[in-house]
Amino acid sequence: MRDSYLSKRVAELKPSGIRKFFDIAATMKDVISLGIGEPDFTTPLPILEAGIKSLQRGETHYTSNNGILELRRALAAHLEMHYNVSYDPASEIIITVGGSEALYLAATALLDQGDEMIIPTPCFVSYQAMALLAGGTAVEIPCKMENNFDVNPQEIEAAITPRTRAILLGFPNNPTGAVASRENLLQIARLAEEHDLVVISDEIYDRLVYGVKHVCFAALPGMRARTLFLGGFSKDYAMTGWRIGFVAGPSEMMNGLLRVHQYAVMCAPTTAQVGALAAIQQGEEYVQEMIQEYDRRRKLIVSGLNEIGLPTFEPKGAFYAFPKISVTGLGDDSFSMRLLNEERVAAVPGNSFGKGGEGFVRCSYATAYEKIEVALERMRRFVNRL
Ligand code: PMP
Repeated sequence: MRDSYLSKRVAELKPSGIRKFFDIAATMKDVISLGIGEPDFTTPLPILEAGIKSLQRGETHYTSNNGILELRRALAAHLEMHYNVSYDPASEIIITVGGSEALYLAATALLDQGDEMIIPTPCFVSYQAMALLAGGTAVEIPCKMENNFDVNPQEIEAAITPRTRAILLGFPNNPTGAVASRENLLQIARLAEEHDLVVISDEIYDRLVYGVKHVCFAALPGMRARTLFLGGFSKDYAMTGWRIGFVAGPSEMMNGLLRVHQYAVMCAPTTAQVGALAAIQQGEEYVQEMIQEYDRRRKLIVSGLNEIGLPTFEPKGAFYAFPKISVTGLGDDSFSMRLLNEERVAAVPGNSFGKGGEGFVRCSYATAYEKIEVALERMRRFVNRL
């Protein structure tokens, strides 16, 4: 018998640091979790009702591979309204199984064996894995706290080689909460043009910004033609369990992505697509309410962490704060493990998000205000003891 029947690619894939951490926290009592990467809100009622009614009408069959046309049309209009970028619903949009599948499709469709994808880190845990699963190589470049965790175009330029095919940007960012500045994105656009690269822009937190305007990469001059615009419903509409995301891009690329999607998943879940349509049509007031509540929590957690003595940059998007914990003398893993064991607060070690995350922990504020208050008290006790 062989030692392992797994492919080398899969055998070498590390399990997500987040999951590992969750599993430990789940066995404990009275834990306040700042570890979760999903809204604590239940999906807004009109969306729930749309899904239920769709089931009651007996809509239990496959949809077209690209997704329900009405949803694609509504999404195209939504993107046009918000970002002034237009996509043909018939050939330039695919409804996916979450933003996760959109990432998988993009990497699989673009990378050949050994091709490189530049990934600013810290970043969402699946980015590197998607490159590796596609047979490619993830080339990490660090974003730094002193630059507000914005991406540095010079670092990207220095990382470009003849094997570079794509740059994967994720802003507003998980785990830092950073938004990228228009100036830096414009410079990255220039690099993409100069070196003929595709930009995969994961904008799943596009609506969750505080006091700033989200910059849509595809809407920058010349970029629509070389951007895969990824988004989804999980975060903005509190729909993680429904599993709906999307990719929009020029039809030549989208044809390739569609073939992968067709063979891998056929179509996104039907009920959930109907829910996503209701989200676009009726979700806005709920999105606004959630943004206001996240913003209140954001202010609490950022000032609280700074007061405790954990330097924390002010995140302008998503729902994460990213305090620097190296000042305590502990590494990320031991800080998180001890905080969990000694004070029952779960925060994810920064190194789970790539090299750029070392020395930090991710604290999600997608949890109730009152719980964040208690978590901060516990963290204060912990840090004072160190
Ligand atoms: N991109 C980013 C940056 C994320 O944080 C997440 C979820 N944590 C996803 C994509 C995937 O989200 P989903 O598959 O639930 O849509």
